[in-house]
Amino acid sequence: MKCPYCSEEMKLGVIYGDKCSLKWISLEKDKGPLLQWFSKGIKLSDVFENNSIESFFCENCKKIIIDVEDKID
Ligand SMILES: [Zn+2]
Repeated sequence: MKCPYCSEEMKLGVIYGDKCSLKWISLEKDKGPLLQWFSKGIKLSDVFENNSIESFFCENCKKIIIDVEDKID
């Protein structure tokens, strides 16, 4: 997915809530599979637990885009 702000390629990841916080975590395969879950995430909130949301992150603009098309009741 291209970033709508800068047109650079965005990284696919998930927004995942562990016991401590809600983070954006990269799903890029060139990174270590387990370490990134705990160290490379983008902390978003401490409120949610056990929720994950697929999303795209632009490293250039520092923006996260979430497609909520299939998540609207
Ligand atoms: Zn961008």
